[in-house]
Amino acid sequence: MDDDRFRWQGEGVCRGVEPEVFFPVSDDDAWRAKELCNRCAVRNPCLVFSLQNRERYGVWGGVTEKERVEMFRRGLAQRALEEALQRAG
Ligand code: SF4
Repeated sequence: MDDDRFRWQGEGVCRGVEPEVFFPVSDDDAWRAKELCNRCAVRNPCLVFSLQNRERYGVWGGVTEKERVEMFRRGLAQRALEEALQRAG
């Protein structure tokens, strides 16, 4: 994946962390992933990627699958995607 759109994936603080951390059984178990995402420089592109691709599972950009569903329900996901598009120019 040399494509610029995916460059952020090599810069996440989750590199080398066990994948299970980002696929918790419940939102209550997502605290460790969220802690890592909170200090990740590529949190925003990560979240945008998950929204664009309707990722069904896992924590992306500090947001769990249930929280992404809620973002779509409340129109927050569409707004985040529009803002990302504007930033990309
Ligand atoms: S925001 Fe979280 S899941 Fe996304 S790259 Fe960073 S640490 Fe990994």
